[in-house]
Amino acid sequence: MMKENGVKFVIQLETDKVIVFQSALYMTTSTIIRTDEAIFLIDPCWLPTEIERVKEYVDNIISGKQLYIIYTHSDFDHIIASGFFENAIIIASEKLSNRIDKEKILQEIKAFDEKYYINRSYTPSYPVVNIEVKENGQQLKLKNMVVTFYLSPGHTEDGLFIIIEPFGIFLSGDYLSDVEFPFINSSYTDYVQTLKLANSIVENHSIQLLVPGHGSATEKIEEINERISFSQWYLQELKKDAKELLDVVLAKYPFAYSMIDAHEYNKSFIVKNKK
Ligand SMILES: [Zn+2]
Repeated sequence: MMKENGVKFVIQLETDKVIVFQSALYMTTSTIIRTDEAIFLIDPCWLPTEIERVKEYVDNIISGKQLYIIYTHSDFDHIIASGFFENAIIIASEKLSNRIDKEKILQEIKAFDEKYYINRSYTPSYPVVNIEVKENGQQLKLKNMVVTFYLSPGHTEDGLFIIIEPFGIFLSGDYLSDVEFPFINSSYTDYVQTLKLANSIVENHSIQLLVPGHGSATEKIEEINERISFSQWYLQELKKDAKELLDVVLAKYPFAYSMIDAHEYNKSFIVKNKK
């Protein structure tokens, strides 16, 4: 299924409706949904050649339709292309829109680009959100399709789950990855709640494709359920401070270096933050 194009940018999945690009970095996904009415672009990222390839793809299929760019959360890797695309309607959570430390995110982009000597043809800017998602179940209705949004705090405070129907596409941001266990950066309690929400989304929407922010998309419902239940199990074990937990996740996930750091951070988060 994997194939590569001229600029060494992996295309994970390509159907008549969806294309999922995978960055060389952290298996981060950039997703385009192509419909008769509009084009949706979710979290375009992150290297200049990759972002340009995504834009080229969008330019080729746009033919006068409206472009919507949706950000799943405000981590810098997910908003790094903000400022590059024109004439788009930007959608994100109200919390992303109202972050008071926007400058911090931009500094992270700047630090990344300086560290790796990266030049961009645009100046990254914090997203100016046109449609703010304020509550669970908020919808964007077009003639033949509907996009439903749910707030998904826990990894960050400003996360968003996106369901695109009637195509049954579930974009989960930095949840439900096959290469990462839960990375808790805002609240353990919220994370637990967000996984319950993921369960109810799978029960109440006819999901046919899950696209996580990092890792592989899947069309298998059993796999989606397995990703939810493993995340739930991980959080329970984390709370118990189970000693073997790190060994279990290292056996399960391929990129050990990042996993060790994230696991230690999750542990310290529980101790220090008590959220
Ligand atoms: Zn991320």
